[in-house]
Amino acid sequence: MQKKITLTEDEIPESWYNIVADMPNKPLPPLHPGTHEPIGPEMLAPLFPMELIKQEVTADKWVGIPEEVREVYKIWRPTPMFRATGLEKMLGTRAKIYYKYEGVSPAGSHKPNTAVPQAYYNKQEGVKRITTETGAGQWGSALSFACQLFGIECDVYMVRASYEGKPYRKIMMNTWGANVYPSPSERTQAGRSILAQDPNSPGSLGIAISEAVELAMQADDTKYALGSVLNHVLMHQTVIGLEAITQLEKAGDFPDIVVAPFGGGSNFAGIAFPFLRYNLEEGKSIRCIAAEPASCPKLTRGVFRYDLGDTVGMTPLLPMYTLGHNFIPAPIHAGGLRYHGAGAIVSQLLNDGLIEAQAFKQLECFDAGIKFARAEGIIPAPEATHAIATVIREAQRANEEGTSPTILFNLCGHGHFDMASYEQYLAGKLVEHEVTQEEIMASLAELDTPLI
Ligand SMILES: *Cc1c(COP(=O)(O)O)cnc(C)c1O
Repeated sequence: MQKKITLTEDEIPESWYNIVADMPNKPLPPLHPGTHEPIGPEMLAPLFPMELIKQEVTADKWVGIPEEVREVYKIWRPTPMFRATGLEKMLGTRAKIYYKYEGVSPAGSHKPNTAVPQAYYNKQEGVKRITTETGAGQWGSALSFACQLFGIECDVYMVRASYEGKPYRKIMMNTWGANVYPSPSERTQAGRSILAQDPNSPGSLGIAISEAVELAMQADDTKYALGSVLNHVLMHQTVIGLEAITQLEKAGDFPDIVVAPFGGGSNFAGIAFPFLRYNLEEGKSIRCIAAEPASCPKLTRGVFRYDLGDTVGMTPLLPMYTLGHNFIPAPIHAGGLRYHGAGAIVSQLLNDGLIEAQAFKQLECFDAGIKFARAEGIIPAPEATHAIATVIREAQRANEEGTSPTILFNLCGHGHFDMASYEQYLAGKLVEHEVTQEEIMASLAELDTPLI
């Protein structure tokens, strides 16, 4: 049996897949945060290059990948797929388990799949500088890498608590030539007003977004980039699933279940949407499961309504499963999953019953991550351990039911920058977090945004 399934460079997909073309109910439009009217592309023009705005609203099923982007993808794509023979054996399962490994990218996660085309389209339209925010640093490092390749300045506003507590991602960004500022900073109105109230503010993703957006609005040659949630970001990630289809064909297999961790939805969309197409077009019934943390459970315990993308109110209102834009998740180690909302497309799919979601506590996830590292050799990012925990539950269920499903999951990144959290887990010091119903109700009660 073949364990590693590889592809050649010319098998890198030539187009991204836009699931909107196949959705029975299209995602609802973004609304202006003040007037609550649907916004047109012109409102997004100060923030994003025109080509990305077009991709955000396109109904085309396939969008061609520029040759220059495919050339850069060749640095790490096609990414390998593995049959998880070690994990299957360790679990004693009859399920067949495969994973697609996105940790081989220069930044160590799936995020460069969208950072590279975003930097490319900005360069095409003469943009000189891109601003962005980053929490733990995964998106910031992916964008720094991409901007360096295309000769664009990159300014990253990094949540102060991570800037101080997790210096290595910052140094990685500096190595790729980016400017990294702890947020809140003195460089923006938004930052100064927060610091005036609390000079020691640890910052938050919402504040950092406000800073990056404010700066992009002010200068003509500066734009903003987002690493998840938006339609064009999800679409860029579909290279993952499109490659996976070809790899499983080579292995003579097809999945019954597809799993990915869920923050804002981009790596889940990336692996799942190309398979969901078989459900939507051919009536297949592949189960696509999004795995989220029990401390930030927007899909399993949030509500489907319009909400802001940030805490300060600078972004449009998006139709999303949300815990409320003021929700502050517990400081779990899967930093990339600590976002209050979900992208419009994944939210619509969940509302229509076309995808599933499950929530996991952090100890079960780290336990799954350690099992995986010992069985397969790769140390997974804490985010990715949520998918592994899902796979282990599904494999155990299959054993109980006497079935043998084929399961594919996305190993969206490696955990080499997360050794401190593994250290805590191994020392028995990692604490469990699950948000209470009162906390969720209190956060949702603050919302005055439109219902759906
Ligand atoms: C950012 C990130 C996530 C979460 O974001 P999605 O948009 O939901 O994919 C998950 N895993 C890793 C490794 C990340 O860097």
